[in-house]
Amino acid sequence: MTPSETGALELDAADLGHRELFDVPPAQGGDYPEVAYFAGNSLGLRPKATRSELLEDLDSWAALGVEGHLDAARPWLPYHELLTGPAARLVGALPSETVVMNTLTVNLHLLMVSFYRPTRSRHRIVIEDSAFPSDSYAVRSQVAFHGYDAEDAVIRLRPRPGEHSLRTADVVEQLGGDVALVLLGGVNYLTGELMDIPTITKAGHAAGSIVGWDLAHAAGNVPLALHDWDVDFAAWCSYKYLNSGPGAIAGAFVHERHLGADLPRFEGWWSTDAKTRFEMTPESRPPATADAWQVSNPPIFSMSPVRTSLEIFDKVGIEVLRERSVRLTAYLEKLLTGTAEIITPADPARRGAQLSVRVRGAGELSRRLRFEYGVIADSREPDVLRFAPVPLYSTYHDCWRAGTALAEVMP
Ligand SMILES: *Cc1c(COP(=O)(O)O)cnc(C)c1O
Repeated sequence: MTPSETGALELDAADLGHRELFDVPPAQGGDYPEVAYFAGNSLGLRPKATRSELLEDLDSWAALGVEGHLDAARPWLPYHELLTGPAARLVGALPSETVVMNTLTVNLHLLMVSFYRPTRSRHRIVIEDSAFPSDSYAVRSQVAFHGYDAEDAVIRLRPRPGEHSLRTADVVEQLGGDVALVLLGGVNYLTGELMDIPTITKAGHAAGSIVGWDLAHAAGNVPLALHDWDVDFAAWCSYKYLNSGPGAIAGAFVHERHLGADLPRFEGWWSTDAKTRFEMTPESRPPATADAWQVSNPPIFSMSPVRTSLEIFDKVGIEVLRERSVRLTAYLEKLLTGTAEIITPADPARRGAQLSVRVRGAGELSRRLRFEYGVIADSREPDVLRFAPVPLYSTYHDCWRAGTALAEVMP
């Protein structure tokens, strides 16, 4: 039996999220005033506090000019440090291993400067065949930068014929002695598959490789333990599950083992120790923390929304969110099953908050869902629709709307 609308509303009354903390856009079609928002894996909704807290930071500039660096209510010089603790807790890292800076692909490049150090006998990089294109372009350009041939050096992992996800054992089998770097998505952007990060990291190390993770779709979605899992490095963006706004400042992780080690890095004045930064010496004295990977002084008005958002995660806790996420996603799965083919793993331990379905004409269906039903789900070429019920603000009623709307628009 398909769940009823009343049933969905009852579940919402019993299993509340934190929707009241967010601005939910008005619907442009359908029977309800607000959208049923399933695109939080692409751009999370705006926390209500973001506007007022950003204005506070902006007004420090008006009131203090350059003195805001030290005298603002949230001083700009050490502003990024306000984000370090909450970001570290979110990804299971030590504060010294974590820094919020730049944007995701830039961070991947800066980290590969240190961690992709190819030799003739070991220069290959392993990625997913369905890696987000930015990651593919990044690793191919790194390979080329070091004078190797990307066609030969980049190994792209494909699921078995007829399957949509990668099996952990198949991934492990590919990690041979010629692999310099394994760089996979923690949660795949297209299929929503959650990788077995600790097992793959361990296998990569056993093969003598460096193992880095792109956590764009994992940060704020699933609990992570980067330090304990012995991950070498990781990077993530803050505008998807982290609700920090378009192009928001990203995060980076470098394992304690590598801090203070003699690794190549691209440096600027924010790479040097803050205590001696203004001595204006020609040589940097980088701290033995992830801060050493910073280059420029950070954009305060872009960091402000990240601070506001991380505070929400700190208060609610990722473990609590994950539990609600598992329930919500299972409920949506029940509603979509039978309507369209779900290509996301059925095992809750192998997925986060996203369900991807394979449908013909996904782009057109996504438009109809938006304008006829007020349901926001995005399409990815050529035939995938993605639905992310986000545990902070999505409701069972949103899921019910998505399930009934998709059933009606399916060809
Ligand atoms: C969203 C996403 C990106 C986006 O890169 P930016 O540098 O933030 O523009 C890159 N990689 C993956 C895996 C993503 O999901």
